[in-house]
Amino acid sequence: MPVPSPDKPVYRFAPSPNGNLHLGHALSAFLNHDLARGAGGRFLLRIEDIDTARCTPEFEARIYRDLAWLGLEWENPVRRQSEHFTFYAAALGRLNEIGLIYPAFMTRGEVKARVAALEAMGGVWPRDPDGSPLYPEDDRHRSETERRTLIEKGLRHAFRLDMHKALEQVNRPLFWTETGDGRKGSIEADPAAWGDVILSRSDAASSYHLSVTVDDAAQGITHVVRGLDLFAATSVHRLLQALLDLPEPCYHHHRLVLGADGRKLSKSEGSTGLAALRSQGLGPDAIRRLVGL
Ligand code: GLU
Repeated sequence: MPVPSPDKPVYRFAPSPNGNLHLGHALSAFLNHDLARGAGGRFLLRIEDIDTARCTPEFEARIYRDLAWLGLEWENPVRRQSEHFTFYAAALGRLNEIGLIYPAFMTRGEVKARVAALEAMGGVWPRDPDGSPLYPEDDRHRSETERRTLIEKGLRHAFRLDMHKALEQVNRPLFWTETGDGRKGSIEADPAAWGDVILSRSDAASSYHLSVTVDDAAQGITHVVRGLDLFAATSVHRLLQALLDLPEPCYHHHRLVLGADGRKLSKSEGSTGLAALRSQGLGPDAIRRLVGL
């Protein structure tokens, strides 16, 4: 493995093996690869498989097959998040020590039901940038004794970030450098828009936000290149970087490849799946053209 050098840019493509790769993934992978090669930098692949129920070795094997077929070469060993749960737990522990996380006992379904009941009566409930209702405050205000009792009773719980306390702790506006296809320049982060985000799930000892942030730092990623659908999530990543004293990469959120219906592609979309396109006889150059490169 090449010795990481701070002046060499480091890019990564970070798919989740919970479905087949499609044209949107191809665009992301090509961009990361080409930008890394163009800058004499490194191109890493990271398998984001903390959701061990939905991620499978078969989907992971297909990722390697599809990317190799596209002509991409990445460094080995590949980082697989499922092998690093203790690392994420350590980061969570640091946030716990400074009193910024709490056990959250409501499931997503319970939150949705409560919000639906309120909205049915004409009430309004705040939603995050992805449209999910913000987590209610109930659990944030429980006493330590109450929390312990509920945990001892065997109640399933996640861990969430106390957003108010986290923002107080950082106590300054946060920005990131953006060079992507949407808003560019110095972007002010708005982590409060996400409410008390989940940092460790009841069924996985981490969350997307926590593992992606600490892994980007652990792997020395200097440039995060990913779809515009993750633009708003960057606010949470900047906050976690500030809280955990992690370096700050540059961000490039690229346009999304849309389906014929004008919507974002999904992993179940057969016709835009890379394996389906390969079996129709298309090659990597045709895929590059299809994604507008
Ligand atoms: N694993 C995420 C996905 O497949 C991407 C995470 C990232 O690039 O930050 O959507």
